[in-house]
Amino acid sequence: MPTKKKRKSKFRAPKGMRDLLPEDQVYWEKVRQVVKNLAKGYGFGLLETPILEDVDLFIKGTGQYTDIVEKEMYNLKTKGGDKLALRPEFTPAVIRAYLENGLSRLPHPVRLCSLGPIFRYERQQKGRYRQSAQANFEVIGEKDPILDAQLIQLFFSISKDLGLKNLITQINSIGCPRCRPNYRRMLVNFYRSRKKYLCENCQKRVQQNPLRLLDCKESKCCKIAEDAPQIVDNLCDDCHSHFRSVLEYLDEIEIPYILNPRLVRGLDYYTKTVFEIWPDDEEGRQIALAGGGRYDGLVKLLGGKDMPGVGFAIGLDRMVNLIQERGIKINTRIKPLVFLVQLGELGKKRSLRLFEELRQAGLGVASSFSCNTMKAQLKRADKLGARFALILGQKEALDETIIIRYMDSSSQETVPLNKVIAKIKKKLKKS
Ligand code: AMP
Repeated sequence: MPTKKKRKSKFRAPKGMRDLLPEDQVYWEKVRQVVKNLAKGYGFGLLETPILEDVDLFIKGTGQYTDIVEKEMYNLKTKGGDKLALRPEFTPAVIRAYLENGLSRLPHPVRLCSLGPIFRYERQQKGRYRQSAQANFEVIGEKDPILDAQLIQLFFSISKDLGLKNLITQINSIGCPRCRPNYRRMLVNFYRSRKKYLCENCQKRVQQNPLRLLDCKESKCCKIAEDAPQIVDNLCDDCHSHFRSVLEYLDEIEIPYILNPRLVRGLDYYTKTVFEIWPDDEEGRQIALAGGGRYDGLVKLLGGKDMPGVGFAIGLDRMVNLIQERGIKINTRIKPLVFLVQLGELGKKRSLRLFEELRQAGLGVASSFSCNTMKAQLKRADKLGARFALILGQKEALDETIIIRYMDSSSQETVPLNKVIAKIKKKLKKS
């Protein structure tokens, strides 16, 4: 007999992009629900922005020589000639929306949370996709270091509610426009004599984006970076005391962190605190779950007042992957309270209306309308974990009665059909 070939469409999802199947959706739903709950609990309003933005917003906001803008952004030109980009990150878009919609007139700080996809043309690997989803948090209008710590605390609260433990914060300060130029000069001086030993990318970075020399993953560059001057030793008084306060707050709330002098985050707008949160195990070494920092100059740069800000983004794909990898049970299966068993033509007909009445009465109800035997339907009720099975057969439909079967004891009683909801509610009250 010829073996049947599985038919496959010749079309595939675009490289680095994937389908999230029904079996994954329970995890996604849970993660989004926890994020939204905690966003609300910490006083964030939800903000949705378009997926497409003016390309110049990211060139100006994120920075022309950043990897995101230079190499990873999906750009397109519309028929009308507008130059747009699929958002590669949220922060500039959120600030644009804050300025455009008069949110700057609200009492500050303004706390905004956005969930949605981001697009980056990256090399595809596990946990790194060209379309991924982020939950993004921004707090605009407050320079107090306590907020930097509170955002990290928010991430740990989300992780805790998702059952994710063993995570660690990496934190650094990259100074401000007052102290960074001096440090930048020191760094360029340090690297100038070592330029020929650097990878091709880093050779360009010496002039364009020297801070990024510190976090290159190439082993020859890592080795050189070990001896490079550290920014924490070169902060101005203001940045130094800000950083010390952030660490004190983290100590106070017992958030685990390590100082990483080579963490720079690579975007132009960051000032002072930068942080990332990682799984604290060998396997998690390549996979940051979240990252963010302070951006005290960005609102002004995009046309607003001189207004500080701090924020971070969580990679939702990576959160879901980690929950699945660690085998964390997500209890999203809603057990039906009642399973409606129907038998015979009349029972089946009557059951459709009863199903609706039970649902409207707020009782979780399930049924298997296409299944006709009592045994198979009770088996399903048992599998779903229903507490009550309601059996509506030909005889009961004619008598206007119904059988309640108590699934835990298998005992049964017959009650008038129009009393069944009240009876179940009474039973629930007693238990
Ligand atoms: P970033 O601001 O680039 O550090 O992004 C914040 C978080 O988003 C990261 O820590 C990741 O968890 C997630 N993320 C960023 N880029 C990707 C990607 N290409 N694929 C999956 N997750 C990503």
